[in-house]
Amino acid sequence: MKKIKIAIDGPSGAGKSTMAKMVSKELGILYLDTGAMYRAVALKALREGIADNDEKALEEMVKDIDIRIEYDNGQQKVFLDGEDVTEKIRTPDVTVGASNVAVVPGVRQKMVELQRAIAAENSVVMDGRDIGTYVLPDADIKIFLTASVEDRTRRRYEELIEKGALTQTFEELKREMEYRDKNDSSRSIAPLRKADDAILLDTTGFSLEKTVKMILDIVKARVNNAI
Ligand code: C5P
Repeated sequence: MKKIKIAIDGPSGAGKSTMAKMVSKELGILYLDTGAMYRAVALKALREGIADNDEKALEEMVKDIDIRIEYDNGQQKVFLDGEDVTEKIRTPDVTVGASNVAVVPGVRQKMVELQRAIAAENSVVMDGRDIGTYVLPDADIKIFLTASVEDRTRRRYEELIEKGALTQTFEELKREMEYRDKNDSSRSIAPLRKADDAILLDTTGFSLEKTVKMILDIVKARVNNAI
């Protein structure tokens, strides 16, 4: 059977991973969180004392990096050089570091290679910033999910409270969101951008339920045509 490829892109906190997980569950296909891969690179750099703007050292570091994404009861686990770093890649330091290392061409090249290799073997829904424009330009369905920076910050803030993982004020979180938006949109290689053939969904003011329903409706209608 033909492999289905679904790309969900958009800025930080737009709800991409929540939506991608729903789609993967609904269709029974793999979910790949590409942001987690950039986060693993940032964590390794932090541990090795490599500055997140030291292009040469970062490009050298990723040459033999071992990043694996595995699934345990439907839960994604991220392994860096054999160690489970699923929780460790969610700290504020790693979050900002990931946005910085993601600007480095050699880092992107390596991550994109790994991502394309996974898509070659599996039906997959991938979320990220450059999936529809660069990683999988031939994806069957492309969705660009966005919302106002206030809404995205509020959702992330509430999610962190729920997880008991809140370490920043709302204002700090909002500044971090704006910093990442700017970094992601202004880099020269594969910047955050809606693919021309992506469906734009601005979910400002929408409930989670409404967004989930809209996305599942789009995906189900398109998948039936794509198979
Ligand atoms: O999606 P998440 O917030 O986990 O991504 C962390 C960082 O990785 C983002 O701020 C972005 O700079 C980078 N990223 C990227 N390309 C992707 C996925 C994430 O540049 N496909």
